[in-house]
Amino acid sequence: KDGYMRKPKWLRVKAPTSQMANETRKMMRSKNLHTVCEEAACPNIGTCWKEKHATVMILGDTCTRACAFCNVKTGRPMAVDPQEPLKTAEACAAMGLNHIVITSVDRDDLKDGGADQFVKVVQEIRKMCPDTTIEILTPDFRNKADDITVERIIAEGRPDVFNHNLETVPRLYPRIRPGARYYNSLRLLETVKRLDPTIFTKSGIMVGLSEERMEVSQVMDDMRTADIDFMTIGQYLQPTKRHAKVHEFVHPDVFKSYERMAKGKGFLMISSTPLTRSSYLAGDDFAKLRAA
Ligand code: SF4
Ligand code: SF4
Repeated sequence: KDGYMRKPKWLRVKAPTSQMANETRKMMRSKNLHTVCEEAACPNIGTCWKEKHATVMILGDTCTRACAFCNVKTGRPMAVDPQEPLKTAEACAAMGLNHIVITSVDRDDLKDGGADQFVKVVQEIRKMCPDTTIEILTPDFRNKADDITVERIIAEGRPDVFNHNLETVPRLYPRIRPGARYYNSLRLLETVKRLDPTIFTKSGIMVGLSEERMEVSQVMDDMRTADIDFMTIGQYLQPTKRHAKVHEFVHPDVFKSYERMAKGKGFLMISSTPLTRSSYLAGDDFAKLRAA
């Protein structure tokens, strides 16, 4: 009746109520930091924050793009906060994180798309938390002299994991991710691997947007051709009525079959469940991989 499809039981999750979640929220507020967990209305917030796992969103809370699936607000972004790298590192240290995910809104307004701030944030975290592994989940730096921005991040920041999401199959880009280009995003990750093969590369898609199985398989092939190591697949959820509608709630068995498909294609790590998000328990998987 309200325009939303009723969620199947495998997608119903409890709201975050734990003490840990409250502490995380307070900490982020006190440092004036934003988390994608909140901005994107992520369904895993209860689980992740309880485990002290959060994804910090740098470069403000306002994006220059307006993807049809994303709950982050669009508009004129604020000035870059020079204190942000330090505050992010302080939050990371205070929470004692083993693995931190740093992401950002798209800053098409900045000459370097925000690459410089990514470098500074990574450097501060390295200084203050030498044992924390760092994953960055970046914008596509479209029209920003790709190689130069990525080269800088790799040379001066050197994250442990470089993550950039393809989000959906190429056919759905004009509707779902209109500001981006599929091959541009693939090339970005290919460049990272070429510049430093020791950095793990990662990408993900959402399903339930009317993509076909063959198209998902093709995306996996394209990712492997670009030498991408890790893949995530999760159910798309419509954040508000203004956003793209859910076409279907993909059954957990289908997610399992995607997982098998991805393993067969040679990904080092694959997370494919209805509630998988790009940063869901990323640290746990990574720790397992390093221990192996
Ligand atoms: Fe959301 Fe990223 Fe799209 Fe901006 S570019 S609207 S933050 S998905
Ligand atoms: Fe935050 Fe990622 Fe966990 Fe969602 S999956 S709550 S965005 S850390």
